[in-house]
Amino acid sequence: MSRTLMILLWVAGACLGRAGTAEEPAVHVVAPGDTLGAIARQHEVSTRDLQRYNNLTDPHRLAVGQELRIPPGPDVPLRYEVQSGDALSVIARNHGVTTQALLELNELENPDTLRVGQTLLIPGSARATPRLSPELERQLNRIRLRNGWTHIVIHHSGTAQGSAQGMDRYHREQRRMANGLGYHFVIGNGNGMPDGEIAVGPRWIAQQDGGHLASAAQNRYAIGICLVGNFDRTHPTSRQLDQLLALVRYLQRRAGIPRDNVTTHTRINVRPTRCPGQHFPTDVFLQRL
Ligand SMILES: [Zn+2]
Repeated sequence: MSRTLMILLWVAGACLGRAGTAEEPAVHVVAPGDTLGAIARQHEVSTRDLQRYNNLTDPHRLAVGQELRIPPGPDVPLRYEVQSGDALSVIARNHGVTTQALLELNELENPDTLRVGQTLLIPGSARATPRLSPELERQLNRIRLRNGWTHIVIHHSGTAQGSAQGMDRYHREQRRMANGLGYHFVIGNGNGMPDGEIAVGPRWIAQQDGGHLASAAQNRYAIGICLVGNFDRTHPTSRQLDQLLALVRYLQRRAGIPRDNVTTHTRINVRPTRCPGQHFPTDVFLQRL
């Protein structure tokens, strides 16, 4: 029996009979006397991963009966069901793995023979754990956060190219927004701004409300991140997705924002919008958090 299979069976047996898949992570129900360290050891994951995966601000305060989601360990592959229009290279990019890694784990000879509904295994050990550059992290750490940031909202620019400066000008001059750039962060795609570069907007530096949603009330609590690109036509680049992941994790940690409050423009807006486009891999991205 392979080690992976043994772990899967073991997790399935130990955790309410639910195997750890991408759609339905394994769950541990906190029992009297449980500590985070003991639970982490029991499930062969790190305490840090367990804490981060569940957005626990205080690891010493576990409630009996509380459900903790067990993060997939590095050896446990995720399962992904092929959707219509999927290409192997795009699935790989969205999950932060190489196409070669997918070909090998799934024993595929030809990347062009995917079937809709086919289940692919996504190798855990090959999943990238992207980081912010130390320089950017230092810059962000110097900013004193005001209270009340509870959500993170992802947008696309809807244009093939763009930059934080260009959007700032557009928001000031065309949209008459006195505070300029409506997003708190912009992530470049290599056209107008370097691919994967994160620009910190003046509103984040000054801790001002965003101007990226139709509702003023939502703009007060929602951090806005815009990826340059039109994702109705193309896909985000792998660097954009990796840096978005690193930035969202950082902001979650800093502001104590749970994973359920990370969302997209179309999912939260009070007016209908297609932003961030049909090719933004919302579900896959949220699973990577
Ligand atoms: Zn938007």
